[in-house]
Amino acid sequence: MEDIKCQGCGAFIQTANPDEAGYTPESTLGRETILCKRCFRLKHYNDIQDVSMTDDDFLTMVSQIRDKKGLVVHLVDIFNVDGTMINSLSRIVGDKAVILAANKMDLLPKSTNRNKLIKWLRTAAKEAGISVEGVYLISSTKGHGLTELTEAIEKKRNHQDVYIVGTTNVGKSTFINKLIQTTTGTADVITTSYFPGTTLGFIEIPLDDDTSLIDTPGIVNRQQMAHYISDNDLKIMTPKKEVKPRVFQLNNQQTLYFGGLARLDFLKGERQSFVCYFSNQLAIHRTKLKNADNLLKEHRGGLLSPPDNETLQMIPDLTSHTYRIDQEKTDIVFPGLGWVTIAGGGVTVAAHSPKNVNISLRKSFI
Ligand code: GDP
Repeated sequence: MEDIKCQGCGAFIQTANPDEAGYTPESTLGRETILCKRCFRLKHYNDIQDVSMTDDDFLTMVSQIRDKKGLVVHLVDIFNVDGTMINSLSRIVGDKAVILAANKMDLLPKSTNRNKLIKWLRTAAKEAGISVEGVYLISSTKGHGLTELTEAIEKKRNHQDVYIVGTTNVGKSTFINKLIQTTTGTADVITTSYFPGTTLGFIEIPLDDDTSLIDTPGIVNRQQMAHYISDNDLKIMTPKKEVKPRVFQLNNQQTLYFGGLARLDFLKGERQSFVCYFSNQLAIHRTKLKNADNLLKEHRGGLLSPPDNETLQMIPDLTSHTYRIDQEKTDIVFPGLGWVTIAGGGVTVAAHSPKNVNISLRKSFI
C-alpha cells in the first residue's frame, strides 16, 4: 500500500492490524479525508481507543530530529508544569535553540502575575536542564498570545524548520490546529482529545518552499497522574475553564482531601487560609486529621471520588511527605491535579499523592 498518513494523528494508514496505530478498514480508503479508525472515532464519537506504541517507539521517533537543524518550541501545560517539562529534552532534540510556550493560560485566574510566572518558568526550565531563548504564555483554545509567539518563532528560526515538542496532552494538536486555522482558515485538521497519547506520528505543515513546522509525537511521561486515571476521572480532574480559587480557613490538625486522589494535612502553625486551585469539578473535603485515614478507607471511590472503580484498579496508594514552610505564599503542587497556596509562613504540612506522582513546592505567582 502506498504511504498514506492519517490526517488526524499522522500515523501511517494500514489495514492489516486493528490493534496497531493507523488502522482503518479497507472500505474507508476511498474517502476524501482519510483518518485512522481511532481518530475517526475520536472525532465523531469523542471515543478513545488504545493503540500499542511503546515509550521506546515514541523516543525513537522523536530522536530522529536530533541531528536536523531547526528551532524547538517546547510546549508545557501551565496547569501541570512538573508533569510536562521534558527533563531529557536536549538528549532528544540535540542543541537546537528552544522557545518555551506555556499553554492553557486561560485556566489560570486573571489575578495571575505574569512576570512572576515567566520568571518561575525560566527557573523551572533551568532546573530541568533546558536553557530557553524565551518564555511565552499562550492559550491555544482561545488563541491568546499566539501572535507574539509566532512572531518570536519567525524571528528565531533563521529560515529553518520548527519542531513542536511536548508530552502528551499539553495541547500540541490544538496549538497546531489553531496555527493552521489562522494561517489557512481550515479548522480542526489534527485530532485533539482529553486523552494522553493522541498524536502518533510526525505532521509537517509547510512554512515556505523549503521549511516546515513539524508536530512530533507526544512524549509519554509516566509520572503524569493522567496515566493512573480512568477516562471519566480524567474529565473531572482536567479543568476546562478558568479555575476558581477555593479558600479554606484551617486550624492545625485539619485535613483537605482533593477527591480521593490527594490530601493535605495541616500539622503545625497558626490558623490561616489555604487557597486551592483545582478543576472546579473536583470536590474538596475538609475533615479533622484524626478522622482522615478512616474517611479515606471507608469512602475512597464513594464520597471521596474520583477515583472511580476503574481508577482504583490502576492508581498507586497515597504516600506522604512532610514540608516545613517558612516563606509566605508558597504553593504545594500536586502535579496534574492542582495546587494549594499557603498564605503565611511557619507552617508544617504533610502532602499525600499517589506514589510516583511527586509533589513540589514553589513561590506563588498569583
Ligand atoms: P496533545 O496530546 O498535546 O496533542 O494535546 P491536545 O491538543 O489533544 O489537547 C489535550 C487537551 O487539552 C484537550 O482536551 C484540549 O482541548 C485541551 N487544551 C489544549 N489547549 C488548551 C488551552 O489552551 N486551554 C485549555 N483550557 N485546554 C486546552
